[in-house]
Amino acid sequence: MSKEPIGVVTDLPTWRMAMKLAIRDSRSLLSALEFDPEDFAFSRSAEAQFPVFVPLEFLARMRRNDITDPLLLQVLATATETNESDHFQLDPVGDQLVEVTPGLLHKYHGRVLMIVSGACAVHCRYCFRRHYPYNTAPKSLEDWKPALDYIRSNESVREVILSGGDPLTVTDDRLAELVSHLDSIAHLSRLRIHTRLPVVIPQRIDESLCNWLSSTRLAKWIVLHINHANEIDNNVIQAIRRLQSCGATVLNQAVLLRDINDSLEALEELCERLVNHGVLPYYLHQLDRVSGAQHFEVDESVGLHLVSELAKRLPGFAVPKYVVEIAGEASKTSILSEHRLAFLQ
Ligand code: SF4
Repeated sequence: MSKEPIGVVTDLPTWRMAMKLAIRDSRSLLSALEFDPEDFAFSRSAEAQFPVFVPLEFLARMRRNDITDPLLLQVLATATETNESDHFQLDPVGDQLVEVTPGLLHKYHGRVLMIVSGACAVHCRYCFRRHYPYNTAPKSLEDWKPALDYIRSNESVREVILSGGDPLTVTDDRLAELVSHLDSIAHLSRLRIHTRLPVVIPQRIDESLCNWLSSTRLAKWIVLHINHANEIDNNVIQAIRRLQSCGATVLNQAVLLRDINDSLEALEELCERLVNHGVLPYYLHQLDRVSGAQHFEVDESVGLHLVSELAKRLPGFAVPKYVVEIAGEASKTSILSEHRLAFLQ
């Protein structure tokens, strides 16, 4: 078994071409990693529920012929996804209960979230929105009018989060247009973008994107999604630097995932690499209990132990907040403080 990744991609196609070239089924994914696909019980019915999508740039960071590879395990469709579980739901965080206009979620005070795109540049098998009805979300600026009217008339809203799917799958022309409308709303102060594109297809952070991002008056916060240090190669570091040079503060959120990053070594290496490149490890999420992701769940007691040990090894700013999202709550819930409160009672 080779422990070497397939290799760093140096001659990068445009991000749109990279999307077209992405691997779209488990058999091709396993073949590209030099497995015999016949050896594995990958699941066509899991793929039918949630298709496989893996860009070659992300594949290049996986190890050949290693079924324990932490990047491969995030994207390979397996038969366990089709198992039923009463505690795992289609909408575990209650997104659809807080949709105030098509595609606009108002869950927390002062912030609204726009589902800008249903497309992603990678399909993470544990995704909490893997069952989201993206077909009802707005597609054009005209479709966004009710949402923009809602934001304009609600002065308590200070921050707009562009999310999805991945908002950076949308063309720069359309993003620039949308952001210029947000710019014109005087009571908005911040623009936040939740994206995995700079990680999985780093060439997405190109001049055209930097042009509109640099020109907004809004304070820019980019929240990446990286779960394992092996996801960060030189091309990702370049993409992070470009975002920072556009004036964005870059944060990361990770999900605690069984057999992927549920060890002290994996989390420590991830947090170290992030802060070494000026990225703040913002959240470590307890898995959202979405149907099909049962096999990724790590017990909270294990997560608590890991985060407590991390705090003994890293400076405070490098230790993520360990949180869980509970539908209907006014904010994310800190698992550490809940545990401390229970301990004190
Ligand atoms: S990139 Fe984000 S939204 Fe898309 S599948 Fe992965 S976790 Fe879900």
